[in-house]
Amino acid sequence: MHKIVVFPGDGIGPEVTAQAMRVLSRVAKLQKLDFQTEEALAGGASIDQHGVPLTPEALLKAQNSDAVFLGAVGGPKWDNLPSDKRPEKGLLGLRKGLNAFANLRPVKMFPQLESRSPLKQEIVKGLDFLILRELVSGVYFGTPRGIEKLSNGEERGFNTMAYTTSEITRIVKMAFELSRKRRKKVTSVDKANVLEVSQLWRKVVIEVAKGYPDVELHHRYVDDCAMQLIREPKQFDVIVTSNLFGDILSDESAMLTGSIGMLPSASVGDKVAMYEPVHGSAPDIAGKDMGNPLATILSVAMMLEYSFHQSQAARAVERAVEQVLQEGYRTADIYSDGTTRVSCSKMGDLVTERIH
Ligand code: NAD
Repeated sequence: MHKIVVFPGDGIGPEVTAQAMRVLSRVAKLQKLDFQTEEALAGGASIDQHGVPLTPEALLKAQNSDAVFLGAVGGPKWDNLPSDKRPEKGLLGLRKGLNAFANLRPVKMFPQLESRSPLKQEIVKGLDFLILRELVSGVYFGTPRGIEKLSNGEERGFNTMAYTTSEITRIVKMAFELSRKRRKKVTSVDKANVLEVSQLWRKVVIEVAKGYPDVELHHRYVDDCAMQLIREPKQFDVIVTSNLFGDILSDESAMLTGSIGMLPSASVGDKVAMYEPVHGSAPDIAGKDMGNPLATILSVAMMLEYSFHQSQAARAVERAVEQVLQEGYRTADIYSDGTTRVSCSKMGDLVTERIH
């Protein structure tokens, strides 16, 4: 039996997670897999109940599970809290507590959604690459950090972007390993022309690459990469980069596919991995049954694949999503003329029904 701890979170988090769990139950039943799911609180939901974005008990539950599944956290209700009390701290605490150092974000263009991309069809047709973002270090965690008062009455905000050799080595090795299952091309993204931390990053990448002579290696500065993603995104296979750069580039990449509501992710670490959609809690549409649950449902497929090695079950989920799109069903974010607009829960029904 596999134990999954589910953090529905805030905003549309609970709405999309509910649909993903229905899909999981259906595929488990058909494939005779045994999952036990238990809900826990993180983010704003935890602040409201316990006064903190993640309790030690909730983290322990996650650490003792076989996989963690998360909707999304955050929202305007908690925006004015001090930074260590904000919902996002709960998410960072989970990632850190699970030592989930690698965030895998596949960016794949579904043929049925090509017209939804803001880019020309020929640029995005067949798009399929993977962003590997370092997740537990870099500027989001570096110290010293803070806001200090200066003697002249001004305030000064500061953070520290730092990486050690071993932190870089483990994520870069993973990039090369993953690329061997793909098109054997790694692009490392840094800002080595300006930042010392990036100069070390690049040095380690070059060292690790020596163990993978069959894989093509490219380096790109982050500003150039941001531009290349729009100019010629099909040049990429595996992009490996630091926490901050990966955060920004993966949202940019999400838009290439038409909607952030389509992209799943996996955060992989020592033992327990965490699965979540790339998008946030979408407070503007929360509570309206309007969110696109497909990113979250596709995160179930990633969980089946990476944590439970159930490729057949993972493919069954992906096929059901493709079939629903092929039949013309769309949530509001991916709707276009000539397609059928459906709610979040209806989309969940349709995918669940098509799993076989
Ligand atoms: P967001 O991803 O929540 O929303 C950006 C835009 O995309 C919104 O217009 C939203 O309606 C739309 N959108 C997002 N997901 C969608 C979906 N599944 N279906 C349809 N439309 C969707 O990002 P934001 O507005 O920058 O942040 C909102 C809150 O979420 C903030 O509190 C932020 O901190 C938090 N956040 C959480 C996570 C996470 O939990 N992993 C990630 C990013 C942002």
